[in-house]
Amino acid sequence: MVSGRGRASALACAGVLALAGCGAANGSGSDTADGGLTIAASFYPLQWLGEQIAGTHGTVTSLTPPGVEPHEYELTPGEVAATAEADIVVYLSAYQPSVDAAVDEQAGDRAFDAAGPADLDLLYQDGHAEEHADGTHAEGVRDPHFWHDPMRMADVGDALAEALSRADEAHRADYTANAADLREQLTALNGEFRDGLARCASRDVVTGHSAFGYLADAYGLRQFGISGLAPDEEPSPGALTGATDFIREHGVRAVYAETLVSPAVAETVARETGAQVLILDPIEGLTDASQGTDYLELMHANLADLRTGQQCS
Ligand SMILES: [Zn+2]
Repeated sequence: MVSGRGRASALACAGVLALAGCGAANGSGSDTADGGLTIAASFYPLQWLGEQIAGTHGTVTSLTPPGVEPHEYELTPGEVAATAEADIVVYLSAYQPSVDAAVDEQAGDRAFDAAGPADLDLLYQDGHAEEHADGTHAEGVRDPHFWHDPMRMADVGDALAEALSRADEAHRADYTANAADLREQLTALNGEFRDGLARCASRDVVTGHSAFGYLADAYGLRQFGISGLAPDEEPSPGALTGATDFIREHGVRAVYAETLVSPAVAETVARETGAQVLILDPIEGLTDASQGTDYLELMHANLADLRTGQQCS
């Protein structure tokens, strides 16, 4: 059932069958919860999701190290090897090219792609969906940042519970129950965002990179990303001018900086326009500077800063 790890264990144990510990991954060990599934998640939100669904029946590791900006991260040989050894590789296609390559080469049918259940229906051109919202997006780039919409996270959670159940039928009821619990928490979070952002003086959200399209879409905000769909430490002069013009034109009072890239760009734009700098975390990885220790805390911190920056009552 736990075929990937089973194969690896079989190889590692060949010729040393008498040694204690061999075969522990198949159910009798105490090293990983109840000796359950090994799950390699490509970056933080999927790691968190994996932990919620697996519960005590699996061990989740992140391929992208903590505190690293994931978009352009190149996996190390050890991280590539992890995609070959894990029972399940949870990833998001067309988000991290290095992960896509490793999954294509190593993971086979053990790969779980969150893109399908997340229903990535936002398309961008030039990093800005809102400027092309005239039905001509057909050739745009798909926005990967689904985790800022709690209900899309819940949908991915349900699909992941099914995938874990297929790999480990014995615990199907637990995975299904964990997904239901998660959906309940995420539904509550969705309600907090909807209520918290219902009455705001400004609906224009100026961000570092365009990571908040699904959030804007879910709660009736309009995102203006200074960079495109990926962070850029040195946006073009045109991008900076576009941002300052947008802020002045729409009376925007806040510019949101990120946690995994330098705040210099947001600070420059804020200084030129008199806007305030607040934090809107793309939640692409945790650092010591993060305003919380898990997905739910970071979402709550984002909501608090959004309510300040958008002047919500
Ligand atoms: Zn991003």
